[in-house]
Amino acid sequence: MADHDVDLFVIGAGSGGVRAARVAASYGARVMIAEEYRVGGTCVIRGCVPKKLLVYASRFSDEFEDAAGYGWTVPEPTFHWPTLIANKDREIARLEAAYISTLERFNVALLKTRAVLEDANTVRLATGARVRAETILISTGAWPHLGPKIPGLEHAISSNEAFHLPELPRRIVIQGGGYIAVEFACIFAGLGSEVTLVYRGENILRGFDDDVREHLRSEMRGRGITVTCGLTVTAIEKAGDEFVTRLSDKSTVNSEKVMFAIGRRPNVMGIGIEPLNVKIHEHGGIEVDEFSRTTVANIYAVGDVTNRVNLTPVAIREGHAFADTVFGGKPTPVDHSNVPTAVFSEPEVGVIGLTETQARERLAQVDVYKTTFRPMKATLSGRNTRSFMKLLVDAATDRVVGCHIVGPDAGELIQIVGIAVKMGATKADFDATMAVHPTAAEELVTMREKAVSYGQRAAE
Ligand SMILES: Cc1cc2nc3c(=O)[nH]c(=O)nc-3n(C[C@H](O)[C@H](O)[C@H](O)COP(=O)(O)OP(=O)(O)OC[C@H]3O[C@@H](n4cnc5c(N)ncnc54)[C@H](O)[C@@H]3O)c2cc1C
Repeated sequence: MADHDVDLFVIGAGSGGVRAARVAASYGARVMIAEEYRVGGTCVIRGCVPKKLLVYASRFSDEFEDAAGYGWTVPEPTFHWPTLIANKDREIARLEAAYISTLERFNVALLKTRAVLEDANTVRLATGARVRAETILISTGAWPHLGPKIPGLEHAISSNEAFHLPELPRRIVIQGGGYIAVEFACIFAGLGSEVTLVYRGENILRGFDDDVREHLRSEMRGRGITVTCGLTVTAIEKAGDEFVTRLSDKSTVNSEKVMFAIGRRPNVMGIGIEPLNVKIHEHGGIEVDEFSRTTVANIYAVGDVTNRVNLTPVAIREGHAFADTVFGGKPTPVDHSNVPTAVFSEPEVGVIGLTETQARERLAQVDVYKTTFRPMKATLSGRNTRSFMKLLVDAATDRVVGCHIVGPDAGELIQIVGIAVKMGATKADFDATMAVHPTAAEELVTMREKAVSYGQRAAE
């Protein structure tokens, strides 16, 4: 131990790294953490938090419109993007300061610098200084990937820049179909931009339940977003103050901004792991075992850099479990099954468990319960929108193995339903739960008629 400067060196002060550093320090470890940009990482600085603030901002337009049906007369509202961005930046700065003070409170030494591995026990800082560490944790996150080099790619922005645009674009083209692309499409549309979403696949939100994908696409179209599937951007040309985006069907779209949100790549390059035995998994992330240990015994990795389930709560859980395992004497594997998740689109999506396709592949017999309905608030407002809910039940055990919601507050709902699903609740448990009336969530405990049943019994 004596030839080590610290017990733990953490590279990257994002969701996973900060949690790991703090918990390891609470067990008495001497911890150092390096951050090359801003403390808090993607989630706090240019991910979940600023995004949700923009989502809130974007939803006021519907609220103003809907108020009329409830008797309100609202003067013509106006929106000022620079005010939103300045207020958002102030909140992000407050959160960053809170993260820094937490690290200080736990006596974690924070180095505002880039750090790379020199060997399995040595970290080199940007100054050239070296730190010897008994254990090293890589929590360097991920970075937007802009795809193959196409003409004019330099004009495309990623989500990083979208948070700092000087003004709201009147028209924007967004390439991508994942949750970040979909969320930004809804944000910009809600704020008044004309949005064209271009996605190469057959439908948005690949990996989500097909009914959810279809329902959300139709809702987005209903809100005036042009959702174009089966196409890619082939070139971006600058034409005066705007850009001409060329698509693979030879059509063009004019806009003030072009954003690409087609995926993120784990930050594994240039951090010094190549000469070491730290193996990269074929999915591009650092390969780790259930305790987040890499192929080098004293080097661990958590969060997006491991490309397992790339969400903040997962990175935090992995960081915490790592610290419990290595410094707390409590070996703690992380369970990556049944992770509830939300898409903060308009309307919102909340899901947990298997999609219908997965359930049909994995289970002998699946009962499907689903419903679409007009949210009560839309009655007086006259808004043309519908909510969607679906439960997937393993007929052999009666367990609810999937729950999919599209509608207001779906993210909030799925957090609570997630507990029941994680606990192994059965459809009978859902049915035995009294409804809360009048709510949208009551649909989850009042769906009695199977929409369809796949498997042996269906054939009977
Ligand atoms: C636009 C957007 C919206 C998102 N929305 C959600 C959401 O709603 N819900 C959700 O759960 N997740 C969301 N995510 C994902 C979430 O942000 C990530 O899963 C999470 O931040 C991963 O945490 P991490 O600790 O692995 O990495 P990060 O939080 O990315 O932290 C890594 C840190 O390491 C630093 N770093 C990298 N290399 C070095 C180096 N060599 N030396 C020093 N420092 C280094 C980086 O600067 C960064 O601060 C969103 C992501 C984006 C981009």
